[in-house]
Amino acid sequence: MLTHFMRRGLLAAAASLTTLAAGPEPQRGDQGAPAKGPHDPMRDAENPDLLTPPATDHGTVPNLRFSFSDAHNRLSSGGWAREVTVRELPVAKEIAGVNMRLGAGVVRELHWHKQAEWAYMLYGQARITCVDGQGRNFVDDVAEGDLWYFPGGLPHSIQGLGPDGCEFLLAFPDGAFSEDSTFLLTDWFAHVPKPVLAKNFGLPASDFDGVPPKELYIFPAPVPPPLAQDAVASPQGAVPTTFKHQMTAQDPLRTPFGAVRITDSSNFPIADEIAAALVELQPGAMRELHWHPFADEWNYWLSGQGRMGVFASSSNARTFDFRPGDVGYVEKSNGHWIENTGDTVLRYLELFRSDRYSDVSAEQWLALVPPELVSAHLKLPEQALAGLRKAKQPVTG
Ligand code: MN
Ligand code: MN
Repeated sequence: MLTHFMRRGLLAAAASLTTLAAGPEPQRGDQGAPAKGPHDPMRDAENPDLLTPPATDHGTVPNLRFSFSDAHNRLSSGGWAREVTVRELPVAKEIAGVNMRLGAGVVRELHWHKQAEWAYMLYGQARITCVDGQGRNFVDDVAEGDLWYFPGGLPHSIQGLGPDGCEFLLAFPDGAFSEDSTFLLTDWFAHVPKPVLAKNFGLPASDFDGVPPKELYIFPAPVPPPLAQDAVASPQGAVPTTFKHQMTAQDPLRTPFGAVRITDSSNFPIADEIAAALVELQPGAMRELHWHPFADEWNYWLSGQGRMGVFASSSNARTFDFRPGDVGYVEKSNGHWIENTGDTVLRYLELFRSDRYSDVSAEQWLALVPPELVSAHLKLPEQALAGLRKAKQPVTG
């Protein structure tokens, strides 16, 4: 026999299951109406601020989000690569990103490209190599939370180490970059006549019989020995400034609401074309209202979930929801904020095509001009004016 309360509980559970199956509805107060046509409840549930935007959203703001899950994945022997560029996210003109996985021993082959390459290790361990125009070399190992940076045009490679290779994010200071059109060692040598290769290296032409007829790109190879046994000494010496930086080992700026680590050419001197911030927000915490005066922001969502509100002037504003593996974009000078909407720590990267990180804080700005002037605009109570913080609070809540 079901009691009245048990029956009511079951009905409530059934109702919430129905809601879950149907997904959220495009309704806010007396605005909107339930969706009746074809729609995707899973995507609606992931993007509540698109389906039912805050009432403050208005006007035309271009799309500012693209998920690596919606990008073509190029599968190769032992690894894969996918990219989010201006072709996937048209607003993203200043930076393009690549997400790549290499199994143990698997090599992203020796190559170069016009653009500089900035990288963040997402998982595992890798060995990276690079040589500069003066014949100085760099060979080192990187692990989760480490960065590397190769200046534009310099030849480099990445190889997954044991036990399970690596996964990483690459960023290039050019939205039109394509991972599919880099200069590959094997592609080049396949397009040089064998007698020319022989003459160049002073070797018999038959020594080049094993050169692959087309590019390898990502391919399996034996896991290399420990670094000390694998490194080559250059008579010209090593590169004068390291191409590696341990970003997560940096002491963060910490507040009760989260933490921020900034890495740019001030603490990673070689990185003169990409500046970065790694932001951690506790549940409910916020990256404060701010903007970047000199460069667009390309952000990459590492863990947790959140939403970002962007103000594009002329009454235009739009809010987007983000999950791990998403890319977000904010054009320079557009005001924005990010809020952790989940129940776990939100971690994301902010990247800029710049040698220096720079932002303008809305609160700091208002705290550093005459209070009467601020009051004349916002009608804030006197106590609120007096409490405006003159020091930046990048993470708040
Ligand atoms: Mn590269
Ligand atoms: Mn920002």
